[in-house]
Amino acid sequence: MADAVKTQTPAPRARVQAMKEYHPPLGCRDALRLDFNENTLACSPKVREVLGQISVGALTRYPEREPVEAIVAAHVGVKAEQLALTNGVDEAIHVLFETFLEEGDELLLPVPTYTMYEVYASATDARIVAVQAAEDLAFPFERVLAAITLRTKIIAIANPNSPAGSVATREQLLALAERAPRAVLLVDEAYYHFHGETLMDMVGTVPNLVVARTFSKAYGLAGLRLGLLAGPVELMRWVRRVLSPYSVNSLALACLPPALEDTEYLDWYVGEVLAARGEFEAALDAAGVRHWPSRANFVLVEIGALHAEFVLLMRDAGVLVRDRSSDPGCDGLVRITIGTREQIRQAIPALHAALAAIRGERGKQ
Ligand code: PMP
Repeated sequence: MADAVKTQTPAPRARVQAMKEYHPPLGCRDALRLDFNENTLACSPKVREVLGQISVGALTRYPEREPVEAIVAAHVGVKAEQLALTNGVDEAIHVLFETFLEEGDELLLPVPTYTMYEVYASATDARIVAVQAAEDLAFPFERVLAAITLRTKIIAIANPNSPAGSVATREQLLALAERAPRAVLLVDEAYYHFHGETLMDMVGTVPNLVVARTFSKAYGLAGLRLGLLAGPVELMRWVRRVLSPYSVNSLALACLPPALEDTEYLDWYVGEVLAARGEFEAALDAAGVRHWPSRANFVLVEIGALHAEFVLLMRDAGVLVRDRSSDPGCDGLVRITIGTREQIRQAIPALHAALAAIRGERGKQ
């Protein structure tokens, strides 16, 4: 009996046992990082200055997020009560799903999309209703609309979406919110700065709309883990019950005001990415590589059966890219993050060499 007790480990919930493991390839990334859609260069130098001046007092105290939430709310044009800062958008998604999804509910998810929606939803008792995009990977508006039921509790839409960089229009998103009044429409604007279109101005007006933004992409603060969730007060008060009051740390909070103030840096970085994206798309066209139209800081390209070899060849050349082949409807596709023009000019010869190698390989088959 004593032995049996020793060898037994407590079992997690059945839902958790059924969850797929997810291990993004975050190791050994000391190379040109065109794999995770982060800012590939740096945050604003003003953020670095503030980080260097953090006092011991600020480190010993628990973080106070409200004053910074008020600054961020004013910056994005919503009321402070309508906005919560989170430990990355990942925490926002997690907390939103924990707040709203229960047994019998459905999460409506156009796929392929960002992996963490599925991860967090599969830990709840709700059912995931995946709506597959067509081969062009455009936002499957009509199909999402048709999939709404009385059980639909959350519709999660990344706009622009990953991995293709496709977008839903404002009209489509507002139509979804109207057609599913019992559901929360989450519009995840992680890549907003590269697209320029937002629904943030409708927060509080549309009763079931919540908008998420991250500071991991254009702002270059992925390591600090900072995101936000904005929605009507009546809805955010429930989210706040679940959200930890401690999850956004003092360093992250101290860095937010200077990051927001330095609009010049943000505009410069976004301008670089958009120019570099044009150059990269032209290089893909010249090389005869199919790619999907993107409104974000990445481009999805068709590599074909030798996608894994292509990723390894690029890595050997010092350029990290992300194989998306196992995403639904993405067989043979690889996603390449767009950095500055200088970085992309470094990546293009590596692309040519890797393509030549796999085309030679294919010729032999
Ligand atoms: N949403 C989308 C659509 C993303 O692609 C990502 C990051 N890849 C995130 C959210 C996560 O953002 P954060 O770093 O703020 O958790």
